[in-house]
Amino acid sequence: MKIEASTLVTYPAGDVGGRSAVVGVVPVGDRHGVIVAETPFHPLDHTWPDQPADTGTIGGAPVLDCVTAAVRDGEEAVHLGQDIPVRRGAEGWHWLVVHITGTPLEGEVDLVVDARHRRDLSAGHTACHLAALALNAALAGRWRKEIPADGLGSPDFDQTAITSSKITPCGSRDVYRLGKSLRRKGFTADGLAEELPEIARRAEDRLKEWIAADAPVRIDSPGPGLTARRTWHCDLPEGSVGIPCGGTHLSRTSELGTATVTLELSADGSELTMLTAVSPA
Ligand SMILES: [Zn+2]
Repeated sequence: MKIEASTLVTYPAGDVGGRSAVVGVVPVGDRHGVIVAETPFHPLDHTWPDQPADTGTIGGAPVLDCVTAAVRDGEEAVHLGQDIPVRRGAEGWHWLVVHITGTPLEGEVDLVVDARHRRDLSAGHTACHLAALALNAALAGRWRKEIPADGLGSPDFDQTAITSSKITPCGSRDVYRLGKSLRRKGFTADGLAEELPEIARRAEDRLKEWIAADAPVRIDSPGPGLTARRTWHCDLPEGSVGIPCGGTHLSRTSELGTATVTLELSADGSELTMLTAVSPA
């Protein structure tokens, strides 16, 4: 079996269903990794695994997991997830969505994503980006040196300090490192613990304003392949903002419903965690 093209993906446009031809099946332990020409399934990304894989069925069989894989052009060995030896989108490689199933499949298959689970993950991801921008604004007064700004002009605390981001159904959990290197860049953590509730309130208020503004959200994609460099865009009242993103999103901020932002500081003060929760209707 030789795979000669990257998987085309339709989830960036919001698709949750499709029909496509099986182009390969690879063994994954005692399971099967089914690869099709085009899929609506969002796989877990191997380099920045923020958004969990979609769930659903392929050819009527449950998709037990959905992961990213890569195969070097002209070769047969398919590298899965953490075993991919090159950076996401590297030239000379085909980038694949692998649907893990209990049964091998062939021919044309229907692909059906669990739409409710997808909607909740999309809500969590849209909220995650907005909360990051709101947190940047709420922490803007704590920078004593100039650092790169986010799309709304605030010092980009999020991109400067983030160590992990986890999207959950209807929420997200972002962890930031407040170490020496951040202080050297000009961030002051003096009195942060005392001010934390106020900072969280400001971020939450901003997020609620943006939800009330019913701002449109869209994904710009330079191509249909899995690793095309896509960008999340939101036209907020303060201006249009773009963030590189490989995930899925809602199409308007109003769909997020109500929102809460919680900030937690680790006991030693070295780590800040932001928990965002929304409740789409
Ligand atoms: Zn994203």
